Amino acid sequence: MKVAVIKESTPGERRVALVPEMVARLRGAGLEVLVESGAGDGAWLADSAYAEAGATVVSRTELLADADLIMMVGKPDEGLLGGLRPGQAVLGMLNPLADPGLATTLADKGVTAISLDGLPRTLSRAQGMDALSSQANVAGYKAVLVGAAAFGRFFPMLTTAAGTARPAKVLILGTGVAGLQAIGTARRLGAVVSAYDVRPQTKTEVESLGGTFIELTSVGNAAGEGGYARALTDEERQAQQAELAGHIARHDVVITTAQVPGRKPPLLVTEDALKAMTAGAVIVDMGSGPLGGNVAGSVPGETVVTGNGVTIIGAGNLAASVPGAASAFLSRNVATLLLHMVKDGALAIDPDDEIQAGVVISHEGAVIHPATAALLAESGPGASSPKGATS
Ligand code: NAD
Repeated sequence: MKVAVIKESTPGERRVALVPEMVARLRGAGLEVLVESGAGDGAWLADSAYAEAGATVVSRTELLADADLIMMVGKPDEGLLGGLRPGQAVLGMLNPLADPGLATTLADKGVTAISLDGLPRTLSRAQGMDALSSQANVAGYKAVLVGAAAFGRFFPMLTTAAGTARPAKVLILGTGVAGLQAIGTARRLGAVVSAYDVRPQTKTEVESLGGTFIELTSVGNAAGEGGYARALTDEERQAQQAELAGHIARHDVVITTAQVPGRKPPLLVTEDALKAMTAGAVIVDMGSGPLGGNVAGSVPGETVVTGNGVTIIGAGNLAASVPGAASAFLSRNVATLLLHMVKDGALAIDPDDEIQAGVVISHEGAVIHPATAALLAESGPGASSPKGATS
């Protein structure tokens, strides 16, 4: 089987799905590795490094003609989609619950679609394949650096001959993988860190990292299935927003990471909360993306400053801005998942396997991923947006 790595085309995407170090691992399992010329450029990985590792560097046209399986960071771009043929497979972060229309398109083309984000994350044997966690770790770290760089004061307490600076007060909203990494990073920089999540079971993790867990009186436990949060009711959401506003106003830097799988990111920082913040405060909205964000007025990939001097940074894809580390982690996840699915040098699709049941979205002309198929049945075949706006 020939597996291929594409050069990403999404603006700002500097990661690559496979680094040269993983080429030998795939070749050891009997796979031939093709790499589109320039695929690793954004992560400082030259074509020659892939060639030395035993891969064949090819053009996009050659790749489309020869590859049995094509690996990518995100979703196939228009050009790639147009060139896919029946029987080929794609592997990437396809996010089928947010974009079920893509799953239908791939199924109609007879393409086997494998999505890293469908992995059952609580299975310990799947941890090495968990790209959502590996990339969230990278992004949570970078969010703190981005926030610190935009903040006009120090993070640590500093005592100098010219005076003493108080430590920054940092608030992390959402304490999943990214939020916990952000807490640790902000603490290492010397900030005083508080954090909140609708899953109160994260309190002990927050405290073990040196943060203070904020408990809201107006919203109870909103833990959902599989370790994720459930969407709040309208009533809960409004109560949460109002109570959070008081805490937000007391902080210098706020990092928001809240997500509910398959839904719009919940709005945590409202217009009113922004108005109550002090000039010079900074918010890094990691929930920011095409579906919205955690912060009112945040714009994906852009920095906006409110009339009262609050900087809002729309930072939904921060892992792409740490391409060396993020690609190395992602590549290990991709290779581990792929090798789990390969038997005797070929892709062996088995929907009865617990891991494959989560990641195989389409196969042999049909959408076979249960949650995506259910979503499509509910919303109609042309569905392209997630259900249940939560903001
Ligand atoms: P995520 O990206 O879906 O969400 C980030 C955080 O936002 C979550 O902690 C969630 O509770 C929180 N959130 C959602 N709505 C909110 C709201 N209205 N207000 C405040 N917070 C809100 O989550 P994630 O980081 O990908 O992971 C979530 C969980 O999965 C974590 O418990 C994580 O530890 C767990 N996980 C477990 C394993 C494992 O067992 N091996 C692996 C990976 C992740």
